[in-house]
Amino acid sequence: MKIFLTRSIFAAAALLMAFPLARPACAQTASPGSPVDSAYAAILTNAKVVKTLEDIKADDARTFAEQKRITEIPAPPYKEKIRAEYYLKRFHELGFKDASIDSEGNVIGLRKGSGGGRPKLVVSAHLDTVFPEGTDVSVKEKDGVILAPGIGDDSRGLAALLSLIKSINANDVATVGDIMFVGTVGEEELGNLRGVKALFRDHGDIDGFISIDGLGITRVVNQATGSHRYEMIFRGPGGHSFQEFGLPSAIHAMGRAVAKISELQTPADPKTTFTVGTVAGGTSVNAIAAEARMAVDMRSDSTEELLKLEARLLDLVKQAVAEENARWKTDKMTVEIKLIGDRPAGIVAMDSPIVQATQRAVSVITRAPRVTFAGSSTDSNLAMSLGIPAVTIGGGGEGGNWHSRNEWYKPVDAYFGPQNALLTILMLTGLDGVTKPALAVRQGK
Ligand SMILES: [Zn+2]
Repeated sequence: MKIFLTRSIFAAAALLMAFPLARPACAQTASPGSPVDSAYAAILTNAKVVKTLEDIKADDARTFAEQKRITEIPAPPYKEKIRAEYYLKRFHELGFKDASIDSEGNVIGLRKGSGGGRPKLVVSAHLDTVFPEGTDVSVKEKDGVILAPGIGDDSRGLAALLSLIKSINANDVATVGDIMFVGTVGEEELGNLRGVKALFRDHGDIDGFISIDGLGITRVVNQATGSHRYEMIFRGPGGHSFQEFGLPSAIHAMGRAVAKISELQTPADPKTTFTVGTVAGGTSVNAIAAEARMAVDMRSDSTEELLKLEARLLDLVKQAVAEENARWKTDKMTVEIKLIGDRPAGIVAMDSPIVQATQRAVSVITRAPRVTFAGSSTDSNLAMSLGIPAVTIGGGGEGGNWHSRNEWYKPVDAYFGPQNALLTILMLTGLDGVTKPALAVRQGK
């Protein structure tokens, strides 16, 4: 006990030495006397918190082993079940006896605070990967780098979350607000955020949302890039290229559409983008194509701009079909337009407590004064679109080649991920008997 206290005080002093370094960054947007400000100093010097931070660091190698184990359990879109069951088992082992899998497939473990259930903060990572069934997900090591599909995205977030739970439970860290730990399904492309959509449908009392997704600690996501994706299928009668010349062509109609789309102009700020990602069609070189299809991706940091772009683009596609029909004096060419992806956009203000808390935590953990805030498309999109404070933070370490079979990971300062999450969470939920929650209870919910 004595040794523990001495070490803790020493570590607290070390953290306080980092504190002045962190200060200038905080001063950028700090509002003196805010709940985050008062919570920050009290939490950093709390012996239990310091010990928990140390335990997370000591747990680094085990967490990395866990990350590799999770990676080797396949979790294709809509087929996360086996990984979810493993994750639930780990929740049970770490002390969440009532943890369960909800009707959508999310793994949920509730850690109660002393405040009667509010504020309620969700801390999550996603279970699914982009890789289809049958993908070789075995972990390989080459020159100190780990290679495996999904090793970073989001096995790192899942492992960081478990390390965090293990350390706060082992140290009996008591919070005022409730923390709902969640392994979500359906974050990636095809899943269309089905996990978080169900979570917010079933739990109307969520006051804040954190997703651990991606790696870098100094890059924090406080903007949700919205996206709409379409598949467009052009259909006509088709026929022999010589005998039946004079019929409209599905490929020609699609070509007209692509040419028009490629000339679209969009704003740089808010960043708004488009691309025709894939095309396919036709059956042979000497046939007028009966069918052609393309997939189109549109994104924006602003819902308004996204909807404007979408309206223009869909209109151009219809014009292209009309022109192909007019060219051959027919009405036989049609287009079917199918929405295949829908992610809402949103933004969390820089002076919001969740952004302020994250900024302070990142500064003190990394001792880096600069924190970059950016837009991305993650589970936080849904919370942000509902007006619920949310951020996406990194799980720690370095990596790249996301969504490819050559995804790589290096555990450089990986423990920064769960440490950063710990401090952010405690500022928001409040440390029982020490600080008040900086996260506000949403009124009327
Ligand atoms: Zn991800």
